[in-house]
Amino acid sequence: MRERLIEVIHFLHWRGWAPGTGGNFSALISESPLRLLMSPSGYNKGGLVPSDLLVVDAAGRKIEGEGKPSAETLLHLVLTKKTGAKSVLHTHSVWNTLLSDIYAVQGVLELSHYEMLKGLGGIQTHEHTERVPIVENSQDIPALTNKIEDLLKRQPNLHGILLRNHGLYTWGSLAGRRTTACGDFRVLV
Ligand SMILES: [Zn+2]
Repeated sequence: MRERLIEVIHFLHWRGWAPGTGGNFSALISESPLRLLMSPSGYNKGGLVPSDLLVVDAAGRKIEGEGKPSAETLLHLVLTKKTGAKSVLHTHSVWNTLLSDIYAVQGVLELSHYEMLKGLGGIQTHEHTERVPIVENSQDIPALTNKIEDLLKRQPNLHGILLRNHGLYTWGSLAGRRTTACGDFRVLV
């Protein structure tokens, strides 16, 4: 799992979707007790190696590894718990950051009838409108976590959430080598 998650992080970094130390990434390694493998804060994501990944518990406390967990670990935990995701990816691409501001007034980015929408989990056809909510960015991560938990209660079938002027959270399974590089994720990232 460490190698798989690193492979995905390097791919996202190489595409310019997690520049510098930006973004954070997790994968579920145990459901009970809940344990996430997590990228450490403040590292250049292009240079991460499998042993750099941390293990955090259900409260976001580090229980294994050298680095510091990201402040946004709570968001990974709530997304994992509420969606049943096996992995949560948070990117800082230029495109999703600009779009999150352009569509902030509407509160949602709508993507309709694009061929690759059928690559999203549970979507079988391009004749689909994916509505990606846009949430105001905040440094108050517990408050942001509550806001996202409420959003998931109201809209359980989301595939991603944009934080305004910040980046994208998306989640799903980490596909194997024989399928795609990032499973469900590439479509939204
Ligand atoms: Zn971020």
